[in-house]
Amino acid sequence: MAFTLSIFPWVYIGKYETSWTGNFIEQEHLSPEEESKLSEEEHTALMNRRNSFPDLPLVNYTSQYGMGVFEGAKAYPQKDGGLKVFRPDENAKRMARSMEGLYMPGVDEKFLVDAILGVPAKNADLGFSIKYDTAWEKDNFLSAAAIYIRPFSWSEPGIGVGLSKNPWVVVVSTPVSAYFSADNYDAVISDMIRATPNGTGWIKCDANYVISALAKKKAGDAGFMEAIFLDVTQKYVEEGSSCNFFCLMKNGTLVTPELGDTILPGITRKSIIQLAKDRGIKVEERKLAIEEVMTDAAECFVAGTAAGITPICSLTHHGNKQVFGSGEPQKLTMDLLKELKGIQYGVVEDRYGWMVPVK
Ligand SMILES: *Cc1c(COP(=O)(O)O)cnc(C)c1O
Repeated sequence: MAFTLSIFPWVYIGKYETSWTGNFIEQEHLSPEEESKLSEEEHTALMNRRNSFPDLPLVNYTSQYGMGVFEGAKAYPQKDGGLKVFRPDENAKRMARSMEGLYMPGVDEKFLVDAILGVPAKNADLGFSIKYDTAWEKDNFLSAAAIYIRPFSWSEPGIGVGLSKNPWVVVVSTPVSAYFSADNYDAVISDMIRATPNGTGWIKCDANYVISALAKKKAGDAGFMEAIFLDVTQKYVEEGSSCNFFCLMKNGTLVTPELGDTILPGITRKSIIQLAKDRGIKVEERKLAIEEVMTDAAECFVAGTAAGITPICSLTHHGNKQVFGSGEPQKLTMDLLKELKGIQYGVVEDRYGWMVPVK
């Protein structure tokens, strides 16, 4: 499965007291070879021990009230060997802002970048990594694997509703394959509201994911790959369940909903805007009415670290299904997908220095 948790042994744990301190920690492991030979039961038991952090309290503001934030970064195996992480400085910056948004001390950004780069490097030294496979080039890296890096915050013990003053920041990693399956690109407009004005929609926080998971489950049960959220007035498109939304209008303009307090400022979103502008495409960040998408869009896609660029070939709103183009993934979507994946896997020039070697 795409997102199976199989934590690699080296993790990072940092903590805020009066300043940030932290260490890389080596959890229990065998060699990758030996681990691959374990029975399913033995493997699960080992993974459970590896996913256990006795220094972290179980009952706290994060486990009880969702008072926590997280990030998602990826290390990509490179065609010429080694591993590089896509824009880790952006993840660190956003995590610090997210923590401050929940009135916690924001993580030291340099610390977090070093942890994001150090965790895959230390795991690779033990043989826990992913190797580049030239076969991925044949399907534009749709089937390509990567290492997902998950930094998250964890509060000090607490039982009453409260804020975290002395959070931990933990960084774990796991191998991942493609997030969305390549045979269903149908999306549906959710009737649930992910984020409300003056709320936490702009923060990458645990609590926002309750609605996302429920909407995604409903969409999946109805046969759709993804749920797309509208704003609180149910007029304007906001984003997908964990990814930002783009559409290419029939007039050739690429439109994505403007950032505000109900939209998560995606790093993939920001990168795509840059890549599209470099192609001479007019890009608009503005309010995007669902009516406009249903009548004027030629192509749609969603974008995020987990999703990459994923085509949306049809959108259903109030039972009304709009198919974009031929109903297959369209040209600009695929061109941007190829370019972004190409940069990430080291087959297209990284002209902005987005890719940072692990260390
Ligand atoms: C993480 C996330 C995204 C995508 O952000 P990236 O930085 O591109 O991974 C979009 N929407 C939501 C709600 C998210 O949590």
